[in-house]
Amino acid sequence: MPSTIFHSKPIAPQTWLIQGDGSNSYLVVGEKQGVVIDTGFATENIRQYAQTLTDIPVRIAANTHGHFDHTGGNGWFERAYMSARALEIAKTPYPSKAALDYPLKYLVTIVGDGDIIDLGGRTLEVFEIPAHAPSSIAFLERKERILFSGDEVDKGVMLYWMQDEPQPTIEQYTLNLEKLLQQRKDYDFICGGHEHVMADASLVEDYLEHARRILSGIEGEQMVLQGEFPADFHMYQIEFKRSSTYKGTWLGYDSRYVRSKVYAR
Ligand SMILES: [Zn+2]
Repeated sequence: MPSTIFHSKPIAPQTWLIQGDGSNSYLVVGEKQGVVIDTGFATENIRQYAQTLTDIPVRIAANTHGHFDHTGGNGWFERAYMSARALEIAKTPYPSKAALDYPLKYLVTIVGDGDIIDLGGRTLEVFEIPAHAPSSIAFLERKERILFSGDEVDKGVMLYWMQDEPQPTIEQYTLNLEKLLQQRKDYDFICGGHEHVMADASLVEDYLEHARRILSGIEGEQMVLQGEFPADFHMYQIEFKRSSTYKGTWLGYDSRYVRSKVYAR
């Protein structure tokens, strides 16, 4: 194979982790078709790379949320499945990537709670879990018992947006985790957006405990910025940002947005 930025490894039957630039990508293949969950933001053709891993056609992508490090490769696919809120930003490269040439004219299918992407003998069910991003959804794959959680359940979870207001709340995050735990009998593994791959699903319980501790008044440490913050991100009002660690999980959040359920654009 000619040299490529991508590398991959099988993580379950008919399931691969693909890494290039940006987020983790996951190729999930059924009897009829494959899908790539999150497409990173490498400029190289990730669909073509994914197709080298299977003979089943891979024509569609699906995004856990609209951040460009998860959507930048969508344009290599015929169609991308994402939430309505994701579509608002999915085709806008981060400032540092604006000069690069991304294919952005792809078709989009909007999905939300309960929608199913059918791969043939294997499905992805959508669960809306907006916190790290207002556009976040998780995909539950029951055959191999994997929950693709994007940036909402991973090694660390950033519960603030790169803007002033509004901000996501710990309370909203708790509701999301409770929603995921209602399906807990159907998955054993978490595949996250950047770090955790096939992690034990008890991670969801750990994050719920963690979030509930913050709700109960146990506040995280004042956040300190070390070194230069990446150019694409702006941290507003750092004095309100907290960093909280519990049982190997990490939450970053805004201390003004713990309980309020007010959560709107
Ligand atoms: Zn993100």
